[in-house]
Amino acid sequence: MGVATAFWVVAQGLTLSLPASAQAARDPLSYSALLTEIDAGKVNRIEIDPTQRVARVTLEGQKKGDPPSEVALFDNYGEITKKALANKVDITVQPTQDNSAVMGILANLLLFFLLIGGLLMILRRSSNAPGGPGQAMSFGKSRARFQMEAKTGVMFDDVAGIEEAKEELQEVVTFLKKPERFTAVGARIPKGVLLIGPPGTGKTLLAKAIAGEAGVPFFSISGSEFVEMFVGVGASRVRDLFKKAKENAPCIIFIDEIDAVGRQRGAGIGGGNDEREQTLNQLLTEMDGFEGNTGIIIIAATNRPDVLDSALLRPGRFDRQVMVDLPSYKGRLGILEVHARNKKLDTDISLEVVARRTPGFSGAELANLLNEAAILTARRRKDAVTMLEIDDAIDRVTIGLTLTPLLDSKKKRLIAYHEIGHALLMTLLKNSDPLNKVTIIPRSGGIGGFAQQVFNEEMIDSGLRTRAWMLDQITIYLGGRAAEIEIFGDAEVTAGASSDIKAVADLAREMVTRYGMSDLGLVALESAGSEVFLGRGLSPRTEYSEEVSTQIDQQVRGIALKCYEEARTIIRENRVLVDRLVEMLLEEETIEGEDFRRIVTEVTGQPVAAVAQVS
Ligand code: ADP
Ligand code: MG
Ligand code: ZN
Repeated sequence: MGVATAFWVVAQGLTLSLPASAQAARDPLSYSALLTEIDAGKVNRIEIDPTQRVARVTLEGQKKGDPPSEVALFDNYGEITKKALANKVDITVQPTQDNSAVMGILANLLLFFLLIGGLLMILRRSSNAPGGPGQAMSFGKSRARFQMEAKTGVMFDDVAGIEEAKEELQEVVTFLKKPERFTAVGARIPKGVLLIGPPGTGKTLLAKAIAGEAGVPFFSISGSEFVEMFVGVGASRVRDLFKKAKENAPCIIFIDEIDAVGRQRGAGIGGGNDEREQTLNQLLTEMDGFEGNTGIIIIAATNRPDVLDSALLRPGRFDRQVMVDLPSYKGRLGILEVHARNKKLDTDISLEVVARRTPGFSGAELANLLNEAAILTARRRKDAVTMLEIDDAIDRVTIGLTLTPLLDSKKKRLIAYHEIGHALLMTLLKNSDPLNKVTIIPRSGGIGGFAQQVFNEEMIDSGLRTRAWMLDQITIYLGGRAAEIEIFGDAEVTAGASSDIKAVADLAREMVTRYGMSDLGLVALESAGSEVFLGRGLSPRTEYSEEVSTQIDQQVRGIALKCYEEARTIIRENRVLVDRLVEMLLEEETIEGEDFRRIVTEVTGQPVAAVAQVS
């Protein structure tokens, strides 16, 4: 903005000074001749231009449009003025030329000040911004980057779904409140607690709740804020933090993302990081330096415990480790209840159903879900959130934003057949979880449509998925591609099924290598990758020979082929039904599970299982 203004002013200055020099002079008149002419009454008009020291003279009888004659003036043009006035000649002192010069100077000055001002502003802003390059300026002062909350206002009641972690941490509250109880019997109060878990599961919230319950101040800093451009800044920040904390004991120090400072030393990318090592060393020194009874408890959070320096985990440091996992069904229900407290929900909403439909959601995602639903409700000018908004919010969070329906009829038809393929198999296969809905309303992220099941999560969680269920699931994944092939033939097959194919490969492989559900027999060749979120398991351990690996591939392919054949057969044998469902889907764009099952029953004459397993 400032720069644009400056340019405008400069341009203005330039154009203003143009007209004067554009005026060409006619044959020059001498000064004395001009005086004579004035006396003779032959002069019509005189324009005096003080900057160029000329008078532009328009003579009597001069043609219109002819340029005036220029007369060079001396320093003092009072004589001309006097004479002109006496002879009633129209005389003006030309302002343009003079002004334009002044304007030019002004414009340049303005530009100069704007530049200086802009520069100052940029400098000032960057030195205020946390983490900005301006830290270069506050270097040495070691400005504190941690926050202190005297009262967090968060209680254990606000944290749901992670009961075990809560129970373990209940003790920490007692340490803070009644340390005598422990010191009396000679127990050493732990200094550090490490919370381990994926993002959004409530680690920060839990730490705040401990402070809230104990009624002590909460100091927090993020590991990434320790690590600065300059060696020594991080360390001095650690020192500051502990100094402030000691002044305010009892209190909680919370270090988020501790993996940013606490990585294995000497193994840094690019030959190690002096600054980080110094910071970590300072942290370790501080932790060792205070006695267990000062009333400071350090809580750190990470989702990468595997990269932490082992020195951090030694007794007397973060020797307590608490897992904070993604919530189960019950946990999700609890979290939903917490966040539903301050929202107006319609009586038709069952949080149980919402919890059922959100497996894999973290606490933060559940909170976000309810908030999205509330925003939708406000946008639709309703008084209370209904199941409709919740449903839309779930799809929005899990699948993507709805886009406007396709107009391209051929592509739309192909997508419809693909999705109906999935949906029909969900409905017809005996061991499948039932269809929730099928839609061809596109979503952001290149999703043309989807068919959605209501999973029986308890079965999945408890590991009671049967071989029959898995085979049906693979058949369902392949149902989309099968329908495309049956209806449009090989040539028209789209790449839209790539995620289906991947799901097939993953599940079939699991069956073979983990559950012993193939001809290879009862061998578990790979172990569960339950710590995937921790960054491990990125490359599955291969403890088997190349020969076994080939056998595994064969088994996987065998399972997929068998399921694919079954999917194609079912689609082929139900072609009339498929066509009818596709017409309906093209018409309505979304079909709910119940309507879908009704039509299937109508056409086939066979009753199909409804959503029986799920409340
Ligand atoms: P993390 O630190 O594990 O990444 P946060 O504690 O920052 O997660 O969680 C972010 C937000 O998500 C919280 O402020 C809270 O609103 C919500 N949330 C997350 N987990 C829970 C939970 N277990 N109970 C209630 N709310 C939760
Ligand atoms: Mg956090
Ligand atoms: Zn598909």
